[in-house]
Amino acid sequence: MSSNAATSNRDAAAAEVLIVGAGIVGVCCAAYLQRAGFRVTLIDRLAPGNGCSFGNAGNVSPGAVVPYSMPGTLWNVPRWLLDPLGPLAVRPAHLPKLIRWLLRWMRASRPDNVRAISRAMLALHQPVFEGYLPLLKEAGAPELIEMSGQLYVSAKSGPMDSELARELRKTAGIRAEAITGGALRELEPTLSGEYQTGLLLPDNGTCLNPQRLVQAIADHVRRNGAEILEGEVHSFRFGPDGPVAALTSLGEVPFKNLVLAAGAWSNRLSKQLGLDVPLEAERGYHITLTEPGLMPRLPVTNRDFSFATAPMEMGLRLAGTAEYGGLDAAPNWGRARVLLKHATRMYPGVATSSFTEWMGHRPTLPDGLPIISRSSQHRNIVFAFGHSHFGVTGAPTTGRLVAELVANKPSNSIDLTPYSASRFAA
Ligand SMILES: Cc1cc2nc3c(=O)[nH]c(=O)nc-3n(C[C@H](O)[C@H](O)[C@H](O)COP(=O)(O)OP(=O)(O)OC[C@H]3O[C@@H](n4cnc5c(N)ncnc54)[C@H](O)[C@@H]3O)c2cc1C
Repeated sequence: MSSNAATSNRDAAAAEVLIVGAGIVGVCCAAYLQRAGFRVTLIDRLAPGNGCSFGNAGNVSPGAVVPYSMPGTLWNVPRWLLDPLGPLAVRPAHLPKLIRWLLRWMRASRPDNVRAISRAMLALHQPVFEGYLPLLKEAGAPELIEMSGQLYVSAKSGPMDSELARELRKTAGIRAEAITGGALRELEPTLSGEYQTGLLLPDNGTCLNPQRLVQAIADHVRRNGAEILEGEVHSFRFGPDGPVAALTSLGEVPFKNLVLAAGAWSNRLSKQLGLDVPLEAERGYHITLTEPGLMPRLPVTNRDFSFATAPMEMGLRLAGTAEYGGLDAAPNWGRARVLLKHATRMYPGVATSSFTEWMGHRPTLPDGLPIISRSSQHRNIVFAFGHSHFGVTGAPTTGRLVAELVANKPSNSIDLTPYSASRFAA
């Protein structure tokens, strides 16, 4: 139930904090800002939870400390690109735009940089359960997140991870148990015997319905007095001291503070506020099998084909793949259907005739970390975007940090330098 009221005469009541984007990041910012005593207004062109946060794999991963930009990953790229069933695709027309991003990505994959990124991932991801649980209790939906553990599997023998990945987990104190052969089948009986190698992360968890997660938090902040507007932000009006209003499809929405949490679309707006960053729309797909005929006990990630499978309220979700094609290209549903083939191999007997499919844009910066940062040009602007593969996991801590930034009470516990907007300035 979003408000569509015209807002051209809103000057009398400038939003204390206007948040652009009602995905998981935007609603967590709203919840933590409310807790800090702020009056918040959210604006999204869609109803809450219909952007990238709609269709992810729901992995809630305090132990996610291994970046995607690992050294050596680049060598896999030609093989992945040539494999029609592979996890990566690049639209040729988009390649020239991707070069600058790829060079940054290569820099991020140097071992020292990887270690620094891993520490920043830990700081953001580790408190995820304590970040969500109070919100969901108050929202009346604590059942949405389960501390289920997560399983990674491969049909190949030998260690599943590089030495560096193991080092990163060990340094971070993340529990990970190697599980092989029959023990793997005992843990996850639906899995094909082809899969002999497993890694259990017992302290990770899962969200049973990512869209409902956003909706539950949005409903909660609305009940606590937040206004949620359904409209598109086009640009901003500047006063003598900086931006003072969003110019939207609903009219002008004045604000005192602005939080930009517009996911993969954020750079279109941040450019107008003086920040231009290499943000890619890393497109991912899902298939949700609505009558799978079997249901794995655990969320299981297939390491050979880089996709996740997750038991959800709506059925068995298969989610993953990375496609670089920009924000506006039409989906290639063939990329989603590939997931059906993989799932049939992974779960013998799974029924694949009834499904829904979806494409979403991960907001991805070259180092995989988000920007959580006050604008260097405008004191009343805070950026909160770029959560890439880990937005569900990083959102609650982001919300807390954003509330601290808006309140001008920076956290003593988390060093914000790795998430600074200025790291891409050079
Ligand atoms: C296939 C797939 C699987 C994934 N699996 C996981 C997982 O298991 N675990 C995990 O932690 N993460 C996962 N992710 C990543 C996660 O989904 C994202 O990081 C997260 O959803 C980003 O949230 P967000 O709020 O920043 O963006 P979004 O959810 O996209 O929200 C941004 C919102 O901004 C709005 N908006 C944009 N521009 C404007 C404008 N100009 N005016 C008004 N509104 C605007 C959009 O409509 C949108 O609703 C996955 C992603 C994909 C694609």
